[in-house]
Amino acid sequence: MANDKKMVEAITSMDVDFAQWYTDVVKKAELCDYASVKGCMVIKPAGYAIWENIQNELDRRFKATGVQNVYMPLFIPESLLEKEKDHVEGFAPEVAWVTHGGLEPLQERMCVRPTSETLFCDFYAKDIHSYRDLPRVYNQWCSVVRWEKTTRPFLRSREFLWQEGHTAHATAEEAEERTIQMLNLYADFCEEVLAIPVVRGQKTDKEKFAGAEATYTIESLMHDGKALQSGTSHNFGDGFAKAFEIQFTDKDNTLKYVHQTSWGMTTRMIGAIIMVHGDDNGLVLPPRIAPIQIMVVPVQQQKPGVLDKAFELKERLTKAGFSVKVDDSEKSPGWKFADCEMRGIPLRVEIGPKDMEKNQAVLVRRDNHEKTFISLDELESRAGEMLDTIQNAMYEKAKAHRDAHTYEATQWDEFVDTINNKPGFVKAMWCGCQECEDKIKEATAATSRCMPFEQESLSDHCVCCGKPAKKMVYWGRAY
Ligand SMILES: [Zn+2]
Repeated sequence: MANDKKMVEAITSMDVDFAQWYTDVVKKAELCDYASVKGCMVIKPAGYAIWENIQNELDRRFKATGVQNVYMPLFIPESLLEKEKDHVEGFAPEVAWVTHGGLEPLQERMCVRPTSETLFCDFYAKDIHSYRDLPRVYNQWCSVVRWEKTTRPFLRSREFLWQEGHTAHATAEEAEERTIQMLNLYADFCEEVLAIPVVRGQKTDKEKFAGAEATYTIESLMHDGKALQSGTSHNFGDGFAKAFEIQFTDKDNTLKYVHQTSWGMTTRMIGAIIMVHGDDNGLVLPPRIAPIQIMVVPVQQQKPGVLDKAFELKERLTKAGFSVKVDDSEKSPGWKFADCEMRGIPLRVEIGPKDMEKNQAVLVRRDNHEKTFISLDELESRAGEMLDTIQNAMYEKAKAHRDAHTYEATQWDEFVDTINNKPGFVKAMWCGCQECEDKIKEATAATSRCMPFEQESLSDHCVCCGKPAKKMVYWGRAY
């Protein structure tokens, strides 16, 4: 039992030090490790398997809307990056440069892609000629590099994995429709699969993507009350098309510029899963994204027939379509239970000699530790029901937490007091001026997270300057 204790004690309580708790979980659940390249991470099998599940599910949903996957080069020539003014200004401070090929200095230096708008635009300019070539709905799965000053595993690293969709359309309406469609796809994915409730809305001009006409976002709230931008979808209008001369001959035989979008989701969602659902025992994975959904733990496995029975249960559950493992290691059952919890495995099946006599097993939920004795005759159906129950309960719990940490403020003092003393989202009215956003950020370190699609009228004046209000905004401190 000494081992169990040691393992549990090794994690900092989330209420004592959330940042340390996060680091502990990442390490103890073996999701990733630090690399010898500062600010980069080694994603370990348990972490990469979560990413693969995110990838598979998103990819399936993308393709259902007509998305095709492609691959663009890793390098962007400097002249290409500079073609769109806002874009290069937005990314220049965090770009990594390649200056040599082998021993020879390059004639033109190239950056390692921080994002691939310019490459897609360069390609589309050559590839799109007629309205018959439209729409182009391409996506790539890749890694990008942004030379961040401060980094944290999954949340902010110098190289991270993501997908970036880049589309070209004949009309502005079609581009806007695709931008919203992808935002809703991300939102549904987060809520249905990751059990993370999101606020859907539009970024203010200050917070929008460099070069975009409009940026839409889904924002989620972490357990510590900080916001996390979880997915973005941008409408570029014809700005990039004009900079890169992406034109097509329309049905009326005139030359027109295409309208473009881009949208992305990254490995930071693994960080979101940890920070929304985790607890003092470690990671808690939603069943629909968990690489291992069920762990069968034999109790007194040295007794005759116990291990065979454990593997028999695994076979049955695997056949029923679940992802299952047996922990037949030499460790004590208590150690195995704690290990299962640390790794966030949604459901544990305990089976020992006494259970076998009674033709039963014990199901233990990771999310609330509830134990249920079930007849082995009903193993598959009860396990399936319980995984569904866990998935729904995790979403409801996260939503209740978010709702309980979403506040309103109509006066400046009240606003500052809420941001400072009640971690969470603060809904407040805004006049639309960037000066107020700047002042709020300076006074409270909070940023505008989004102007939600579902607008409310909390008062008729800006919480900051008192002038007439234009929009209700979600404010918060963010990762
Ligand atoms: Zn104002």
